[in-house]
Amino acid sequence: MKAVYARIAETEDKIGSFITLTEEEALEKAREMDAAGINPSNILSGLPIGIKDNIVTKGTLTTAASKMLEDFIPVYDATVMEKVTDAGMISVGKLNMDEFAMGGSTETSAYKITRNPWNLAKVPGGSSGGSASAVAAGQVPMTLGTDTGGSIRQPAAFTGIVGMKPTYGRVSRFGLIAFASSLDQIGPLTRTVKDNALVLNTISGYDEKDSMSYNEATPDFTEGIEAGVKGMKIGVPKEYLQEGLEAGVREAVLKAIETFKELGAIVEEVSLPHSKYGVPAYYIIASSEASSNLQRFDGIRYGYRSPEAKTLEEVYVKSRSEGFGMEVKRRIMLGTFSLSSGFYDAHFKKAGQTRTLIRRDFEKVFEGYDLILGPTTTKTAFNIGGQVHDPVAMYLSDILTVPANLAGVPAISIPAGFSNGLPVGLQLIAKHFDEKTIYQAAYAFE
Ligand code: GLN
Repeated sequence: MKAVYARIAETEDKIGSFITLTEEEALEKAREMDAAGINPSNILSGLPIGIKDNIVTKGTLTTAASKMLEDFIPVYDATVMEKVTDAGMISVGKLNMDEFAMGGSTETSAYKITRNPWNLAKVPGGSSGGSASAVAAGQVPMTLGTDTGGSIRQPAAFTGIVGMKPTYGRVSRFGLIAFASSLDQIGPLTRTVKDNALVLNTISGYDEKDSMSYNEATPDFTEGIEAGVKGMKIGVPKEYLQEGLEAGVREAVLKAIETFKELGAIVEEVSLPHSKYGVPAYYIIASSEASSNLQRFDGIRYGYRSPEAKTLEEVYVKSRSEGFGMEVKRRIMLGTFSLSSGFYDAHFKKAGQTRTLIRRDFEKVFEGYDLILGPTTTKTAFNIGGQVHDPVAMYLSDILTVPANLAGVPAISIPAGFSNGLPVGLQLIAKHFDEKTIYQAAYAFE
C-alpha cells in the first residue's frame, strides 16, 4: 500500500487521475490486515483498487465530478463497494470522470482534467478517464468504472488497458449515481484479462436493491479462460469497418482478425444494419433518463445550494444553474425536450423503437456466432481541448460503443497494438450473460 501511494505521489501531478485520495484510511486498513493475516480464501484480498467518483462510498467524498456534489459525503456504500471490501480489497481513492459521467474525455469534470499516460497532450477518454489513466500509469492495478454508452471501453482503448462493460443486470447499480438507468453498468478496468475476470467475479451477483438485477448464480469467469478459441465463430460487422476509421486502427483490427484465425477461430463478415442509428437513439434515451434522474439535485437534498437564493424558486434555479456544468445542462435540456408532450412520440418513442431494432440485430448475429469483433473506437485518443467544444463530434465518436448498451449485451475493450504511437482498442461483444466467452477469447488474444 505504501508503494501504491509512492507511485501515485510520483505520477499524479502529471496524470491527475484522482479527485480524492484516502491514504490514511487505506494504510490503516492494510496495517490491520497485516496484523490479522491476509484471508487466503480470496485471491484479491489485500489488493488496492480505485473507485470512480460516481460510486458512493460511505464516509468518503463522492462528487461525480460535479460542483453540485462538492461536499457530498454518503452515509452508505454502493453494493459494489461492499463487495470489494468483503473481498478484502482496499480502496485507495476516488477517480476523476466527466461530470455525472456525461462525456468522452474527462474534460467536463468540475475539478480537473486527466491526462493520457501515453501522451500527456491527449485525453484519456471518458467518462471513466481517471479509472483508465490510474491503471495505465501504474498507480493502481485495478479500478471500477461505469459504462452508459462506452465510458469503460473507450477510455480503456485510449489508454491501452482492459475494460469490461458487463451485461445489463449483471452488476448491481445500487449506490451508483444514476445517469441513464436503463443503460448504466459498473465494470472493471485492469491491465490484464484475468485480473478483469477476477474483479468481475467479485462485483457480480443478484442484489434486491437494484430492481433490474439478474437473479441467477454468477459463474466463475476465470474457469475455462485458457480454453482458447479453436472452432469459435466470430462475426465482424461490416458497418464497424466502414468510413471514418483511422488507418492505423483499421490495420490493428485486421491484424487481430488474422491472429484469431491463426488461433483457430472462424472469422466471417456479418451485419448490424441498424447500428448507424445508435448515436441518435442513445443520446435521446440517455438524455431523457438523465433529465429525470438529475431532478433530485434541487439545492435542498444534496450538496450545492446557491448562497444568493432568496426564494424557493431561486433555490432551485440558481443552485442548478450554478451547480451543473455546460454539458450536464445540455443533456437536461435535450432530455426534457424529447420527453415533452408533443415531441415524445417523434423522439423518445422513436428512439425506443430504434433500440429494439438494434437489439434484434445482435440477437440475429448471435444465432450463428459466439462473438462479435470490431474496433472500440474509430480513432485513437484526441488532443486535450480538441473536441470538448464540439458536442456533435464528441457524440458521433461513440458510434461503436453505444449499440452494446442499447442492447444490454456485454462488451470488452482489450489492447490491440498502436496507431501513431497511441493504443488501439479491440472490442469483443457477446450475447447476454456470456462474459465467459469474451474473457476466453480475450485471454487467447492477449
Ligand atoms: N460518451 C457517452 C456520453 O457522453 C458515454 C458516457 C458514458 O458511458 N457514461 O453519454
